[in-house]
Amino acid sequence: MLSIPFNSPFSTGNEWQYIQDACKEGKLAADGKYTNKCQQFFEKKYGFGKAYLTHSCTQALEMAALLMDLKPGDELIVPSYTYVSTANAFALRGCKIVFVDSRSDYPGIDELQLEHLINDKTRAIVAVHYGGIACDMDLLTSITKKHNLFLIEDAAAAIDSYYLGADKNPKPLGSFGHFATFSFHETKNISCGEGGMLVVNDANFLEKADEVWNRGTNKKAFISGQRKKYEWVSLGSAFAPSEINAAWLWAQLEEMDAIQEKREKIWNWQQNNLPNLLAHYDLDWMNIPSHSIHNFHLFYGLAKSLKQRDELLNHLRQKGILAVFHYQSLHASPYNLSLVGQGQRQHLIQADKYSERLIRFPLYTDLDTENLRELISS
Ligand SMILES: *Cc1c(COP(=O)(O)O)cnc(C)c1O
Repeated sequence: MLSIPFNSPFSTGNEWQYIQDACKEGKLAADGKYTNKCQQFFEKKYGFGKAYLTHSCTQALEMAALLMDLKPGDELIVPSYTYVSTANAFALRGCKIVFVDSRSDYPGIDELQLEHLINDKTRAIVAVHYGGIACDMDLLTSITKKHNLFLIEDAAAAIDSYYLGADKNPKPLGSFGHFATFSFHETKNISCGEGGMLVVNDANFLEKADEVWNRGTNKKAFISGQRKKYEWVSLGSAFAPSEINAAWLWAQLEEMDAIQEKREKIWNWQQNNLPNLLAHYDLDWMNIPSHSIHNFHLFYGLAKSLKQRDELLNHLRQKGILAVFHYQSLHASPYNLSLVGQGQRQHLIQADKYSERLIRFPLYTDLDTENLRELISS
């Protein structure tokens, strides 16, 4: 039995009450009271253009791919060190995924390696805010503007994170891209089990986003009386989650400040204590760049080698603590190698480094740090 799991979903206690209230409203399908409460929360608090709840961040990325009207052969530049969905959503539309390496100082996209990957087939850059840590958005927005590309922020883990640019005015992640995507999977700071959200900041896409979100129909325009018939008008899918999910999510959003405070305490504890408690392993510890105001999503260290990382993971497991590695770089994935050919494996030095040596410690809202200290010292 593990005493400290890697993750444990947090609930505020109000979730059930809101689900019962949604039942009383007499509407459990999508786009009701709680969906709107959640979407407006993001639009008001962070100034996002328009928010659409989805069943996952994966789906939000797929919805962005449909909105951009991507065609087979179009190219997207994507960091290799990320979750599968960042690439898969665009590969589904027949696009070519061009992988770029991470930075040496933290796992975000290496902005300086982007320009030589851009050609006349390139349509977009997908920037992943790794672990809620901002990419260099001044650089990314200037590159995408200069080459007339879409900028998509995969902000799956970046709720309530900010970028501090040259103007020294913190701006929320998710407010820079034409599109931004978030996750409410149970491993993220705010969750409803499985859930996500697409943010559309480019107003040109709003009418189409309503259609794609509503299974490719003009349902929204029909209900508001702008159209006479309810018809199939574009490609789309059933992207909108039920009011049950949205009610659960609302209970969490309402308590977001309290949740973030708890996580901040745990993150600070880990930063102050893990280097001493695990001094024997001499890890390189997580580095937060000065342009990032992060959200206490994760805490990691870098082992000296793959072998040392596995030793530490085993050591912790024997003490009842489940730490994990994550992101096996996509350029070296079985699926990508089946596309490009086994002999064509790229060598992205930083992505390979993080895949082999990064170790994530358990960090969840109710984590008991004293228990963690006792287990490690046992
Ligand atoms: C969690 C995560 C996803 C996937 O989110 P789901 O909601 O589980 O689909 C995608 N990208 C990144 C960077 C993530 O961290």
